[in-house]
Amino acid sequence: MNFHEYQAKELFDDYGIPVPDGRVARTPDEAVLAAQSLGGQMWVVKAQVHAGGRGKAGGVKLVRTRAEVREQAKQMLNMKISTYQTGGLSLPVDSVLIAEATDIVKELYLSALIDRVNRCVTFMGSAAGGVDIEQVAATEPEKIVTVNVDNVAGFQSYQARQMGFGMGLSSKHVRQLTGIMAALYRLFMDKDLSLLEVNPLIIDGDDNLMALDAKINMDDNAMFRHPDLAAMRDEAQEDPTEAAASRHGLNYVTLDGNIACMVNGAGLAMATMDVVKLNGGEPANFLDVGGGTNAERVKEAFKLILAGENVDAILVNIFGGIVRCDLISEGIIAAVTEVGVDVPVVVRLEGTRVDEGRRLLSDSGLAIITASDLNDAARKVVAAANHAENGVEQ
Ligand code: GDP
Ligand code: MN
Repeated sequence: MNFHEYQAKELFDDYGIPVPDGRVARTPDEAVLAAQSLGGQMWVVKAQVHAGGRGKAGGVKLVRTRAEVREQAKQMLNMKISTYQTGGLSLPVDSVLIAEATDIVKELYLSALIDRVNRCVTFMGSAAGGVDIEQVAATEPEKIVTVNVDNVAGFQSYQARQMGFGMGLSSKHVRQLTGIMAALYRLFMDKDLSLLEVNPLIIDGDDNLMALDAKINMDDNAMFRHPDLAAMRDEAQEDPTEAAASRHGLNYVTLDGNIACMVNGAGLAMATMDVVKLNGGEPANFLDVGGGTNAERVKEAFKLILAGENVDAILVNIFGGIVRCDLISEGIIAAVTEVGVDVPVVVRLEGTRVDEGRRLLSDSGLAIITASDLNDAARKVVAAANHAENGVEQ
């Protein structure tokens, strides 16, 4: 689960990590009131969307008057922002953060993430912070300092010194960095985060370190332990199909290909995608309808799949271990009839009451292609998808 910058900064503040004073606003009027209550001569208006790269997309503006606060807030609240981090989506700006503008002497980079190779939390830092850190990582990786935190010992002060001196900071800033990294690590562990990024971490006009931007990501599997954080979820920022799936208890991830897969069980879903690829196809999604699925969920799953724009064929691969194949067939028939599926559907069923299930499909009169096993199913769906695609091109 992703958070807005203002939410992440509230958490930073709770943990004693210095952030500029700010208020969130949902209308231009609220933005002006926010600036008034903050006081000062200069503010920054920041579009709140679940993505970085806002600065370059016109979502971060420095302003000097209340009229400008209103004007920028008004513009941003009408915007949809799409950056290199939004994965093809345009995210609506439903709120803006109004913060006191900070003088920047230097922009640094600091992040923490779950390092799957080293099986620990790893901090990454760089003196070359700011908006182009991806460029630095690609062309000058030696400018990035990494520190692995031992899972048992936890974060140690000497690691902040390694990081700070590695980034070329002064003793004073290294001392401040030590406090910040220790607090970030506590936050990371307490809240079951999977990613935390401060870009930029700045040296401000008073020569102190401060988190000017804040991005955090929480492990969805830990959401039940954090009702306070779960309440911060903003579905308007999520892929609409993925959000609808999670409401129906379906595991859905949009992918780049054109063959939609509907499978019960995550392991079978992975195997299905592998076999589709082996046969020269590209999956349009990962969809696990759950081990003990039912007709209703199969129907919802069809709706989700058909909401995707690039689907040229659908492969249904259900193993009836806990569920009965005849009930799944009823679900498929109901879905295809009700939802109006206009792409080829290949179905491979196996397990309890498979004969009844197959008979229902063939008696339905619907143009469903049945398959005898997984490889047969993959071959047929790839052929059907290629045919559909070529049909459009000719
Ligand atoms: P991002 O583009 O989505 O990562 O948004 P950031 O919050 O990181 O802002 C982008 C850039 O805007 C920063 O790297 C700064 O250079 C600039 N910026 C943001 N807030 C301030 C501020 O308070 N004062 C100044 N001078 N620049 C700011
Ligand atoms: Mn940033």
